[in-house]
Amino acid sequence: MSPGAALLPGTPRAATPTGSGTGPGTGAVTLGVMGGGQLGRMFVHAAQTMGFETAVLDPDADSPAGRVSHHHIQNEYQDPQGLAQLAALCSAITTEFENVPADALATLAATRTVAPGAQAVAIAQDRLAEKAHFVRCRVPCAPFAAIANAADLETAPADLLPGILKTARLGYDGKGQVRVADRAQLRQAFADLKQQVCVLEKMLTLTLECSVILARGADGAMVDFPVQRNLHRAGILAVTEVFEGNIPADLAAQAVQAARAIAQGLDYVGVLCVEFFVLQDGSLVVNEIAPRPHNSGHYTLDACDQSQFDLQVRTLAGLPLTQPRQHSAAVMLNLLGELWGPGLDQTPPWDAVLALSGAHLHLYGKREARPGRKMGHLTLTASGPQAVHQAALKAAHILGIEDF
Ligand code: ATP
Ligand code: MG
Repeated sequence: MSPGAALLPGTPRAATPTGSGTGPGTGAVTLGVMGGGQLGRMFVHAAQTMGFETAVLDPDADSPAGRVSHHHIQNEYQDPQGLAQLAALCSAITTEFENVPADALATLAATRTVAPGAQAVAIAQDRLAEKAHFVRCRVPCAPFAAIANAADLETAPADLLPGILKTARLGYDGKGQVRVADRAQLRQAFADLKQQVCVLEKMLTLTLECSVILARGADGAMVDFPVQRNLHRAGILAVTEVFEGNIPADLAAQAVQAARAIAQGLDYVGVLCVEFFVLQDGSLVVNEIAPRPHNSGHYTLDACDQSQFDLQVRTLAGLPLTQPRQHSAAVMLNLLGELWGPGLDQTPPWDAVLALSGAHLHLYGKREARPGRKMGHLTLTASGPQAVHQAALKAAHILGIEDF
């Protein structure tokens, strides 16, 4: 889409040229999303609020986003029929998970606006390509070596150990990662990961983790959210805190600048999350990027005047971007499957949690709780850091989430 050619929601049928992606018989402009998980669901909610119709492509008949969308195309991501149906329905299409086949995005892009583009998504899908991009943008990342075969196991520099062996592709929530103390464990881990192409990263001592979420339009304009401070447990995001003073201002500024350089280098269009580590000496290194809204940005739904999903809609439709403003201090707690009790079948005490002021409950409509599965999130908002931290600790106690 050329800059300036915005898709306006609620366009009357007669005013919309044939074949431009209006839903059959609806008259509304339809926006599509590849993937039907919770990120797709929150995108669908934001798009619908603005008056767009939505279409979701996801093979799962019962997906969180498919269930709330105007249209749900139930096909595999690479099935040409499903892609053709999505293109016929939609004016513009985005993605909600980075492992969407980049080829499928390229196919859609032949006839429709697709943001982010296949090339940017392909880079985010592959840790080696991602790191090469960080190097190109001159943003430091953790020391690493590619491990593609048995020979690489022996030549990998000794100072990368102890380290983490990560599959180059298809990892999430700490899956596809093994911590290795020495070369013998490295060999074993590579065998356990079925000799897939991997990255060996040096194990760094982290003082904190943070992330930046930004949105970039087709015209290159960028806006960003305040820097989030993240706590991971067992490789899964557990808590995100966003309030004045939770990250030194100079570090936050550096992180935003690095995230902007990474987005610009990709000629990125859409919402991008960049995850960072802060090391003991106070230096900042980039961890990875996600070519979509991110779990660490869910607080924006309740604590900012625009959410990360609102900005995803705007970037996709070519609508103006304005700098978002955080109006409340926020803490987000991820609600993982284990909160549903040892048998995974007990409803957590939402009534007690919702008695706390500033509690915002978001459940994704997943039918089955599983340990580590993201079932929803809870955001606490308050006027300042102390109040919000106290409220979040109370909520954590009620739910049985460990203190932070
Ligand atoms: P997701 O996509 O869900 O963010 P992932 O599976 O891609 O996660 P990473 O972001 O690579 O995994 O790592 C998950 C967590 O593991 C990090 O947030 C951090 O806490 C820890 N971690 C990863 N790499 C390193 C490292 N090199 N040194 C120290 N800790 C690390
Ligand atoms: Mg990560």
